[in-house]
Amino acid sequence: MKVTPARRQYLQIKSQYPDAILLYQVGDFYETFDEDARITARELQIVLTARNYGEERVPLAGIPLHALENYVGKLIQRGYKVAICDQVGEVGHGVVDRAVTRILTAGTLSEPNLLPARQNNYLVAIAASRQQTGLAAVDVSTGEFSVTWFAPAELPAALEAELQRLAPSECLLVEGAGRDAYRFPSQTVTITPCPPHFFDVDAARARLCRHFGVQSLDAYGCAGAPQAIAAAGAIIAYLEKMNTALLSLLTGLHSYQTTSYMVLDAHTQRNLDILQGSRSGTTQGSLLGVLDRTLTPMGARYLRRMVTQPLLDLTLLNARLESVEELYESPALRSRIAACLQSLGDLERCAGRVRQGTATLREVQGLRNYLEIVPRLRELLQGCQAPLLQEIAAELDDCPQVRDLVARALVSEGQVDDGAEHGRLIRAGFHPELDALIASIRDSRLWMARLEPLERERTGIKSLKVGYNKVFGYYIEVSKANRHLVPPDYERRQTLTNAERYITPELKEHEARILNAEERIEELERSIYADVLRQLSLSYGQIMTTASAVARIDALLSLAEVAAHYGYVRPILEQGHVLDIVGGRHPVVERSLDGDVFIPNDTHLDGDEGERILLLTGPNMAGKSTYLRQVALITLLAQIGSFVPARSARIGLVDRIFTRVGAEDDIASGKSTFMLEMEETAAILHHATRHSLIVLDEIGRGTSTYDGLAIARAVVEHLHSVIGARTLFATHYHELAAMANELPHLRVYTMAISEDEDGEIVFLHRVTPGCIGRSYGVHVARLAGMPPSIIRRAQEVLKALEVGQHAPGQVAGVALVTGALPVAPAAESSASVSVTNGHRAGAGRSQGEQSVRVAEES
Ligand code: ADP
Repeated sequence: MKVTPARRQYLQIKSQYPDAILLYQVGDFYETFDEDARITARELQIVLTARNYGEERVPLAGIPLHALENYVGKLIQRGYKVAICDQVGEVGHGVVDRAVTRILTAGTLSEPNLLPARQNNYLVAIAASRQQTGLAAVDVSTGEFSVTWFAPAELPAALEAELQRLAPSECLLVEGAGRDAYRFPSQTVTITPCPPHFFDVDAARARLCRHFGVQSLDAYGCAGAPQAIAAAGAIIAYLEKMNTALLSLLTGLHSYQTTSYMVLDAHTQRNLDILQGSRSGTTQGSLLGVLDRTLTPMGARYLRRMVTQPLLDLTLLNARLESVEELYESPALRSRIAACLQSLGDLERCAGRVRQGTATLREVQGLRNYLEIVPRLRELLQGCQAPLLQEIAAELDDCPQVRDLVARALVSEGQVDDGAEHGRLIRAGFHPELDALIASIRDSRLWMARLEPLERERTGIKSLKVGYNKVFGYYIEVSKANRHLVPPDYERRQTLTNAERYITPELKEHEARILNAEERIEELERSIYADVLRQLSLSYGQIMTTASAVARIDALLSLAEVAAHYGYVRPILEQGHVLDIVGGRHPVVERSLDGDVFIPNDTHLDGDEGERILLLTGPNMAGKSTYLRQVALITLLAQIGSFVPARSARIGLVDRIFTRVGAEDDIASGKSTFMLEMEETAAILHHATRHSLIVLDEIGRGTSTYDGLAIARAVVEHLHSVIGARTLFATHYHELAAMANELPHLRVYTMAISEDEDGEIVFLHRVTPGCIGRSYGVHVARLAGMPPSIIRRAQEVLKALEVGQHAPGQVAGVALVTGALPVAPAAESSASVSVTNGHRAGAGRSQGEQSVRVAEES
């Protein structure tokens, strides 16, 4: 089969981008062919057609040029890479020259319209050797570039936690490394395999040094971490290949250790619904959702980072708390600062677009408008007492040189829409050559502008119009009905259904003058504009410093607003092992109880002398999990420098929060719930220190009762006597309550309930000392809508077990699986004693044995 030249050109370009969808400009459309066309048609729900190239019939799907962003956004969201191939040569005879001008991937997007405004968009790279694993992350829309590394002993938990925190949209891995080697938080991460030389340590070091123009990486804090260098170097290599313009945004590399922040492992981030509500998949129902009242995109992104990187440094924390307090105390100050922030847009991304040379006029004008607000904001903060607020004020730079240049050089938005300046970028008076060119055609333009009324008068045709189109240029249009009135100097050029279009020699003369000059004007304007962007980008560093100061004040203000609205208090932070909360509340649950009041509860733990372990029993739905999480969240809030939902709180700094709450769905891992639970518990026991806070909900449920109880008890003993970490432990094993007698630092609490006159239980949601020793499972089953017949029968069985003190297997007509019953050597309450005794009497079997016994007829 003969291949046509056009088809050959396409195939040649496509062969260089086998893993991307090639959008191929053909006039006003981007076309996709072959398999790309099938994918595009399916993913974008557009029509799949076909076109003949010589003898070949090729599948085709196209999108209009102007709708590119919208469609590309969708493809990228679904994990595709998109190569944009534009016409770069003159359109004329033969096949027009084309070249790939951009490759867009999830992690290299910098178009603000394609990115979530309130969240960073990270591209990460993971480099691994036997001794070390490096993780580099970049957000090319904001220029943030950072790297960290882990020792083998920290893996995989620390890496997984960091991936969870960053939620990258794209990850570079060396070819051959499967994505399964790492646990990514979202299914939408695009994995991009890269050649080994991207990750070669020496090459990567050289590449980074070249990029930053330095001799060594000492100043960046990662010189001694080969895999960190490899990962960061891979990112540079990848951006060099994808879109070199983005590299100019990476002006520094920030090395950090995850252990310099409070460690929140991946489970804990999810269990505590820090960034995402468990049901919503968005910030709704999450801690961030409650805290986020930020007014700018960079503030929102910064707050998100704050929440996942709680601090361990008392001085920094007190500085934040002091600022929040000052803002909290003055509603007037808050509303004045808010008024400034409200009008501030995305300084970071605007500056990035300027630096790349891709900013539109609107974006540059936006940048200027934002900077205009900065002096007022600075003034407000300079009037504050808190040193951190002063510090932020000092970093706010309104960059007068930027504002001045934009004001002098570029037309303002109002003018853009103004007829006279339509389509213009550069302001009159800025560039003499441009001004002269524009002046040179002023007469012709004026002539054109007057032509319509003049010709109407001359010919007597009221409906005569002067118009312009790209193909024919300027013309005079006369409706067919008036054709007979057309004067002899009109030359016909084009016939439409209802009208004729004419030109005159004079019209052509003026037109030639205008069009010639216009072309040069446009060209000149573009080059002046690019030059202005270059000059503006000299202030990139200053703008970014200002943006980061804005982000910080925005986040602090948000914390103060939340504190004021929801009645939070300033926590007292200290070294040591105290956790003393009076009237604590769950920040998210209290917002979700529409109408109901949230019942506050106290917590008093003291890792030194007093209670280290709080053992909490109580029926389902009584509020155990809420209480456990509330203590963890209050601690977390305190360590990001926020006020906390409580009447008062004194908190000895926590190095890590561990949670093991409920069973997370993880069918994909192929491990049983019990196995996962044991793995998570093991990780806690290995990594917890005296300074940690541990929240355990129901250890040992997924196995037989004896096993579970035995494990739970051993874990509690270890935490109590060996690790000594502050621990909250919720359990259904009332039998564990007996440990209180043996373990001096353990106290037993229960969720209070009462029974109303009908015998219905009422959850009081109050944490009280002691243990009820009953599960009220049947009551909860009723609340859950179990059929009444089942409930009645269950009550009968329960009564028989309790009152009759039968062996469980001997209740009339009941078959029981022994392994599922609560069984324990010791218990306090009468209710459990009866069950326990009954079981013992009848059983006497080996631990954990699962057997079905059918009761005798009675
Ligand atoms: P458990 O873990 O004991 O099964 P949860 O903590 O899940 O119970 O709480 C069940 C429900 O009770 C929550 O969804 C919430 O609506 C309500 N609740 C929990 N604690 C409180 C409280 N302190 N004040 C008011 N309502 C609460």
